[in-house]
Amino acid sequence: MEVSPDENRIIVVGAGVAGSHAALEAARNGAKVLLLEEHPQVGVPSHCSGVVSLKGLSMLGIEPQPAFSQRTIQGAVFHPPKGQPVELRTKQPVAEIINRAKFDQYVAKRAVAAGVELHTKTRVSKFKRHSNGSVGVSVQDGPGFNGEIVIDASGAGSRLAEQAGLQTPDWNQLLPGLQYELAETQKQGDQVELFFGSHRAPGFFAWSIPTGDHSARVGLASRKSNVKKLLDDLVREYWPKSTIEGTKSGSVLVSGPIDKCWSENFVVVGDAASQVKQTTGGGIVIGGYSGILAGKAAAEAAKTPRELRWKILMQYDRDWREKFGSDLRRMGIAHRLFASLSDETLNRLFEGVREYLPEIEEAADMDFQGEIISRMLRKKKFVALLPRVAVDSIRAIFT
Ligand SMILES: Cc1cc2nc3c(=O)[nH]c(=O)nc-3n(C[C@H](O)[C@H](O)[C@H](O)COP(=O)(O)OP(=O)(O)OC[C@H]3O[C@@H](n4cnc5c(N)ncnc54)[C@H](O)[C@@H]3O)c2cc1C
Repeated sequence: MEVSPDENRIIVVGAGVAGSHAALEAARNGAKVLLLEEHPQVGVPSHCSGVVSLKGLSMLGIEPQPAFSQRTIQGAVFHPPKGQPVELRTKQPVAEIINRAKFDQYVAKRAVAAGVELHTKTRVSKFKRHSNGSVGVSVQDGPGFNGEIVIDASGAGSRLAEQAGLQTPDWNQLLPGLQYELAETQKQGDQVELFFGSHRAPGFFAWSIPTGDHSARVGLASRKSNVKKLLDDLVREYWPKSTIEGTKSGSVLVSGPIDKCWSENFVVVGDAASQVKQTTGGGIVIGGYSGILAGKAAAEAAKTPRELRWKILMQYDRDWREKFGSDLRRMGIAHRLFASLSDETLNRLFEGVREYLPEIEEAADMDFQGEIISRMLRKKKFVALLPRVAVDSIRAIFT
């Protein structure tokens, strides 16, 4: 037997960072919300490295706290393919390392406290439109649910947007990623470390993220599929005495957001819409913030006559693009440019960047990287380090 539409006005699929924020915001705006999560426990399994900017957390209305915080970060060390590392130490803390499973559980708890009805072990298999204008979802091994609006926040690989008549991200462009939770490492500091080069992580990079005084989350994503060998080589070289306490695999999205994130009584948010920074694969802040916008729009749309709702859902699409679109476009170009560079060019760039470190520290923003990308690519001396073929990509940034 299906639940009546009146009882469940907004259906959110997926209790990740995007879905729980959407559900929370919809409930705060007076909607009845059903949050459906396929796994028995929210946040588990987690694929994420858990690096989130402090500014980004604050955009989500969240302060770091013991429930999920692991470490505060004050800069980064960049390892070029060859040569001396480049260190960027910030004057103030810039990021928090979070336990992503605990973070997702924290946000989902807030949603439940605001009145959201959470169903775990509920895997949505299909989006449906009914002839009476309502929408619904079919669920594996159980009754389906009907409602007024469906929010797809079911992450990378989702097919619901396609069923709702939208384009999906190019799921073939996912980069395979692998991470280890290392224990018994050398003393950890308060900086993340990033490793570049064709022998490390072709087409992307590897990372080491301190999670405790002697523990780190070390991983990489690459356009080549031998990620385990690449990661084992890195660990052997830098943390030979450590022990591997856990392994996580996951795919990093680098395809850029889809062109349209709404259709009739349906919106898509987070990784399912590829709302992700292509430079780093980071999507906690963009997905969470876009979730807030989607939840608010859905709550308003659910109170509005069906024939007028499209304007509100379309506005959600405009609003999230207004906030992140220009930066995402520049990050996409920068990623493609960066992924095409040889090790020799990367070595030259990292060497050349040293003289700009104070300016980078001043102007860089982890979530809105467009400004610093544009600034660097206006510097003739820096651009001269790039091969001539890269100049067209650079022009595209300024048009
Ligand atoms: C290796 C790796 C490292 C990363 N590191 C970072 C980082 O350091 N910082 C950062 O900002 N981002 C990082 N990201 C990206 C970040 O994890 C994602 O952008 C973010 O999780 C997107 O949130 P989401 O809610 O859209 O999707 P998800 O977090 O994937 O949540 C989707 C939820 O939907 C559920 N679900 C899926 N299908 C269904 C279904 N059919 N029915 C019901 N429920 C379903 C899933 O179980 C899941 O709970 C990383 C990604 C990877 C792969």
